[in-house]
Amino acid sequence: MHQYTPKRQCHCLWCLVSLEKQDFSLLIRHDYLCLEHEEFLKSKTKKVIMKGREINYFFEYDHKIASLYFRYKEHKDIPLCGCLFYPQRKHLKSIIQSRSVVIVPSSLSKTKSRGFHPLKLSLEICGIKPHDILKKVEDSDQKNKDKSQRELTQFEITLPKTPLTHEVVLVDDVLTTGNSLMRCWDLLESQGHRVIGCVLAINSSWLV
Ligand SMILES: [Zn+2]
Repeated sequence: MHQYTPKRQCHCLWCLVSLEKQDFSLLIRHDYLCLEHEEFLKSKTKKVIMKGREINYFFEYDHKIASLYFRYKEHKDIPLCGCLFYPQRKHLKSIIQSRSVVIVPSSLSKTKSRGFHPLKLSLEICGIKPHDILKKVEDSDQKNKDKSQRELTQFEITLPKTPLTHEVVLVDDVLTTGNSLMRCWDLLESQGHRVIGCVLAINSSWLV
């Protein structure tokens, strides 16, 4: 089990308020979030249709989720990985069932400079081992192509070490324009897979 697995914390992972002062409900609630943040992160699976494709999501990407994710990803507040998919792990696992999970990649240079892979880590603490078979082509390798060509060739697929199931769950953290998810979706479909989309948070412009 990963060292960041949230369990029996003395403080809320998100706001650091002491949990020891909390009342008797300690027995029935998560013991790594305060009541306010437990309530906030209690979400059910919702669905949205984007460009004809159905996508499961848990949160609207509002300022609270944005600041949480920014702290995790850019300020490298790594224990916050327990505030993302972890509270939704039962719902997430019911979407995944026995299907393979593939993640939308971030750029290799960003992952290298961060020293960790935010999306991968937030799934791994849920006990989910994603296939990291999609690769983002670095912008520097694309400089001779025009914008539309660049978008089409933004991602590459590599052969998985273990074969994927026919149906795969494609997971991303935050869906803003949807371009990355759609390109990765196309790539997986071109390999004969049926894709089920799932993201942590979605930009509110897709929800109107
Ligand atoms: Zn809190």
